[in-house]
Amino acid sequence: MDFLRPSTWEEALAAKAAHPEAVPIAGGTDVMVELNFDRRRPPALLDLTRVAALTEWGGDGDLLRVGAGVPYRRIIEELGGRLPGLAMAARTVGSPQIRNRGTVGGNLGSASPAGDAHPPLLAAGAEIELASVRGVRRVPVDEFFTGPKRSVLAPDELIAAFWMRPARTGDQFAKIGTRNAMVIAVCSFALTLDRERRTVGTGIGSAAPTPVRAPAAEAFLAASLDWDSPGAVPPAVAAEFGRLVAAAAAPIDDVRGTAAYRRHALSVLARRTLTWAWEGSR
Ligand SMILES: Cc1cc2nc3c(=O)[nH]c(=O)nc-3n(C[C@H](O)[C@H](O)[C@H](O)COP(=O)(O)OP(=O)(O)OC[C@H]3O[C@@H](n4cnc5c(N)ncnc54)[C@H](O)[C@@H]3O)c2cc1C
Repeated sequence: MDFLRPSTWEEALAAKAAHPEAVPIAGGTDVMVELNFDRRRPPALLDLTRVAALTEWGGDGDLLRVGAGVPYRRIIEELGGRLPGLAMAARTVGSPQIRNRGTVGGNLGSASPAGDAHPPLLAAGAEIELASVRGVRRVPVDEFFTGPKRSVLAPDELIAAFWMRPARTGDQFAKIGTRNAMVIAVCSFALTLDRERRTVGTGIGSAAPTPVRAPAAEAFLAASLDWDSPGAVPPAVAAEFGRLVAAAAAPIDDVRGTAAYRRHALSVLARRTLTWAWEGSR
């Protein structure tokens, strides 16, 4: 197996163009598991850990650009105030060791329906920046996933960064697992409430072939919330929001839970996160 070690972004893109079969490796917390269990034997690995540009983040006007190689630990420590929903999700990933190595770029690269970074990216309407020697394109995250563990990433492309609006008001994330840590989500849910724009964003994890939004639930809630009032969310609004979120999922029965349980749990998570996010945004 060849081991390619570019030290700049330009070298990395050139290497991917010359060796489209090479598997990129960032934190390695998914790739190394696959190699160790012999699930994958690629002809080459493309090590991205020396590419400093992937580990940088910064602002551009209203938006934050976060390099694909920024690990969860830094998302929590450096971006927790600006991207609280993503930081909440990051805190639930694996263990301190996994959060130290694992990256959002790697989560996107694996494109698992259960990836914990995906629901907050969906709720915030993030865009994923993809690059190749052919150029750069930005893909809305709800168009990024094409199937279980599949995405629009072309063989010669790398994930450069994601773009996200810093939270102005209420962001929440909640995950159900069979235990509190080191667990793949049975289902997860992220919510973004933006009082200034009066918009609602949602993201559902582990309850459909890809991570998905719940557009009907978003539209219902945006029209039903009394944005001018600091009062509590009416129980009927919360219940209908929960019902619409559950209806947006397409879960399966598997070893981690049944489809019926996932739908029920999602409606509960949606109601809970709505209450927390609304109170947090007042
Ligand atoms: C013990 C353990 C616990 C875990 N717990 C969780 C959890 O709670 N929640 C969760 O969501 N995940 C969990 N994971 C999975 C994993 O940690 C995450 O998916 C993580 O985000 C992967 O990031 P990475 O940088 O390690 O990716 P890598 O393993 O380096 O790469 C993952 C995939 O992305 C591709 N890739 C990486 N970077 C790029 C790039 N810049 N451009 C294009 N492709 C790229 C790789 O080729 C590969 O296909 C766990 C893993 C382990 C081993």
